[in-house]
Amino acid sequence: MSGNEMKENGQTAEKEETHEHLPNIRRLNREELAGLMAALGEPAFRASQLHRWLYSHQAFDFETMSTFGRKLRQRLASEWSIRPASLADSESETVDEGSTTPLSTAKFTIRLEDGELVESVLIPSEERMTACISSQVGCPLRCDFCATGHMGFRRNLAASEMTDQAFLLDSEAMKLHGRGLTNIVFMGMGEPLLNLDNVFESIATLSEADYRFSISERKITISTVGLPAEMERIARSGLKTKLAISLHSADQGVRERMMPVAIDITLDKLTAAISSYNSITGQPVTLVYMLLEGVNDSPEEARKLVRFAKRGLCKINLIDYNSIVNLKFKPGCSSSKTMFIQRLLDAGLLVTVRKSQGAAINAACGQLATRQAR
Ligand code: SF4
Repeated sequence: MSGNEMKENGQTAEKEETHEHLPNIRRLNREELAGLMAALGEPAFRASQLHRWLYSHQAFDFETMSTFGRKLRQRLASEWSIRPASLADSESETVDEGSTTPLSTAKFTIRLEDGELVESVLIPSEERMTACISSQVGCPLRCDFCATGHMGFRRNLAASEMTDQAFLLDSEAMKLHGRGLTNIVFMGMGEPLLNLDNVFESIATLSEADYRFSISERKITISTVGLPAEMERIARSGLKTKLAISLHSADQGVRERMMPVAIDITLDKLTAAISSYNSITGQPVTLVYMLLEGVNDSPEEARKLVRFAKRGLCKINLIDYNSIVNLKFKPGCSSSKTMFIQRLLDAGLLVTVRKSQGAAINAACGQLATRQAR
């Protein structure tokens, strides 16, 4: 496929600025880059070189691609542009005043090439520097408590648009904290498993061993509401990434009311999908549970959660809810949180509790939506 063909297919908007009328080469995946180089009569290794220029050197100008001859550089520049996602806005919240170096969770609005906006969150701690990145503009699954769900679905992100979020947050982390990313979670706007090909492509680039930015697959977590077929695809892919499932209730009726997807994917189907994931990968899944006052924070709900978690190999992550997102819901109070933690620990489950880091800036799964969309 040539750049001009892509342009004729109407896949890019005509713009006045220099080069911006040309299609963005970062929208092509590895296979398509290989097809492009083959169509130009170049040997196969040129596609790997081009990928390295784009994502390891992060080149924004074909002229800098010094391993290519002048003719090839000019041909590429005449047909393609290089337009990465960019930072549009940021806000931060200091969360640990007592620390010698106060740690601020920061939320970034990222502008995509077509003007759409998504959000990414940088969550620092003493040991880690985590980027929470988005996989879709909006989300079709419409969970009731979720700001993104209320936006509706606009489009899937290209692999490079997810990769760019990690690059941007890595460089912001270096500026703000003097250290780069150690972990990535696909837990921002959207359901990553509905955009799995591009998520796989992005993970392959982010974990490419000898690239300038390289992170182990084991430090990457994919978060989902629990789509069985896609969970099996991940399990069989051989990826070493971790899997988190937004459970939020182990009661079928309560979960259905919070998450419409649960009407179709019942708790029984989810249990089967988790068991299958456990047996294929030998790895546990993390059940993410957001305590909501009067909704899922009763002792009975804690008992059901224990029973559900024990059906498979599961850890629990309790997270706080920010009621700014949807006033219909309120975060569970500290006594119900203590009761939940105790019951889970008494049952021998492994529990992590995410501090209310980022509450004021809505920094959590299901709690992101661009200000513009709001
Ligand atoms: S919680 Fe996740 S899956 Fe549900 S609507 Fe929000 S972004 Fe989509």
